Amino acid sequence: MKILVFVNHVPDTETKVKVSADGKTIDPAGVNYMLNPYDEIAVEEGLKLREKSSGEVVVVSLGTDANKETLRKALAMGCDKAVVLKDSSPRDSFGVARALADYAKEYSPDIILCGKQSIDYDDAQVGGLVAEMLGLPSISVVVNLDVTDGAIVAEREIEGGHEIVHSRLPAVIIAQKGLNQPRYPSLKGIMDAKRKQIEERVVSAIKPRVEVLAMKKPSAKPPGKIVGTDASAIPELVRLLHEEAKII
Ligand SMILES: Cc1cc2nc3c(=O)[nH]c(=O)nc-3n(C[C@H](O)[C@H](O)[C@H](O)COP(=O)(O)OP(=O)(O)OC[C@H]3O[C@@H](n4cnc5c(N)ncnc54)[C@H](O)[C@@H]3O)c2cc1C
Repeated sequence: MKILVFVNHVPDTETKVKVSADGKTIDPAGVNYMLNPYDEIAVEEGLKLREKSSGEVVVVSLGTDANKETLRKALAMGCDKAVVLKDSSPRDSFGVARALADYAKEYSPDIILCGKQSIDYDDAQVGGLVAEMLGLPSISVVVNLDVTDGAIVAEREIEGGHEIVHSRLPAVIIAQKGLNQPRYPSLKGIMDAKRKQIEERVVSAIKPRVEVLAMKKPSAKPPGKIVGTDASAIPELVRLLHEEAKII
């Protein structure tokens, strides 16, 4: 089975992200990056599928040389091959999906796995766009997956419950938290990953359809208020929660 997984290189959740001087992008200075957590789940699912049916898992990431760090993590988990699609011109979700879909078209996988969303820009668009560009079915927020003889049975997380859907390969599967517990890379995996070549491809720029006008951090929260330190403060606390915070 040819398994293709899209992985994004995103700021570490512990990083205090700053907006660049242009007021439109994230300032990369001092930011630690990581494999997008939803993509780690997609990688794990790809590895599980390979273990069940043999074949290969290829990981691809669009960005710069810096994305290789994330690709190496995926290789260390056990992926067979990694590809960086190189471009640093401005891209929106359509532009990101276009480059990934073009690669997928050429590779012609049996299944594409990606994350529900990147935890940097949170667009949650790329998986569905790629499926549409390739004319493939897409199944989103997948929390359980079975693929047997080309038939897919997937469980989706929906408000207040789960939905079971059927489809057939090839398809795009969009991973949600809970689908699996990603493995830790083994020491051997880490050492092997250091030796593996990462294929590089330069992709051409594409005019964005959506332009970011401004990016700003949320305004600072107002300081907390202490209304008292004993039981006599309760009526005032209840009044404030009811009239000001409007949460009771
Ligand atoms: C080359 C490049 C240039 C960009 N330029 C700008 C810019 O100028 N201004 C700006 O504000 N933003 C820019 N971005 C950010 C870009 O607009 C968003 O990454 C894009 O809209 C996708 O949204 P998202 O990252 O929230 O992905 P989502 O749609 O939330 O991601 C869903 C899934 O798609 C896959 N995926 C997403 N991105 C990638 C990727 N790069 N490689 C592999 N898989 C991926 C992952 O599996 C992910 O879990 C740029 C990104 C790239 C890669």
